Amino acid sequence: MFTNIRENIARIEERICAACDRSGRRRDDVRLIAVSKTHPADAIRAAFEAGLRDFGESRVQEAKSKILQLADLPITWHLIGHLQSNKARPARELFHWIHTVDSLRLAEKLSPSPSPGGEELPVLIEVNLGEEASKEGIRSTELAALAQQIAQMEGLSLRGLMVIPPFLDNPEDVRPYFRRLRALASDTERRSLPNVSMRELSMGMSHDFEVAIEEGSTMVRVGTAIFGSRPPID
Ligand SMILES: *Cc1c(COP(=O)(O)O)cnc(C)c1O
Repeated sequence: MFTNIRENIARIEERICAACDRSGRRRDDVRLIAVSKTHPADAIRAAFEAGLRDFGESRVQEAKSKILQLADLPITWHLIGHLQSNKARPARELFHWIHTVDSLRLAEKLSPSPSPGGEELPVLIEVNLGEEASKEGIRSTELAALAQQIAQMEGLSLRGLMVIPPFLDNPEDVRPYFRRLRALASDTERRSLPNVSMRELSMGMSHDFEVAIEEGSTMVRVGTAIFGSRPPID
């Protein structure tokens, strides 16, 4: 049933390597995150057996049952969908990375009440570069303030930025958005905030991950090209 998954991954792997070669980057600097939303735990297991270790889910509730079913596997789970503050606590317990911090309120909810010796949760700030009303994410003008606030929080470690650019048929047209995200991360890095490292750029999906890698992506989020198409409602 999941025979294509292995072949799909092999093809994507080749394309990632080629994009790294073109841009003088090392394959190890790009994490392939398999976006498994809407797909069953067995599909994730098949992708794991084909070598993948990072998986992305959009919804806490849907992810929870899969994460529990796959608890025997050493998977790194990434939350890549919008997170409501009231789901922050379960999200913190289930996921190893949160890509979609988009408000001070959410960051505060993710930051646990001081628990000495507790692990830090790596997070990314989602930036809405298209300024599309329908998209989540902060405006770039809000980045400096939010980064500063997160830097002061217990239990959170700001590691970079994430973007979902507007969908454009030609991936070349998305390139300026990726470039802009990288520039914003560099600006923030230069401010040398305590406990903040902006080296992670979560950008690139099935149709544009090669351009994203050329522009410095360290985390590509690939769903359809690995698992096939999803039901229309997402
Ligand atoms: C669904 C989703 C993806 C994967 O999209 P594909 O086009 O299927 O690769 C990546 N990032 C986010 C935030 C998503 O919601």
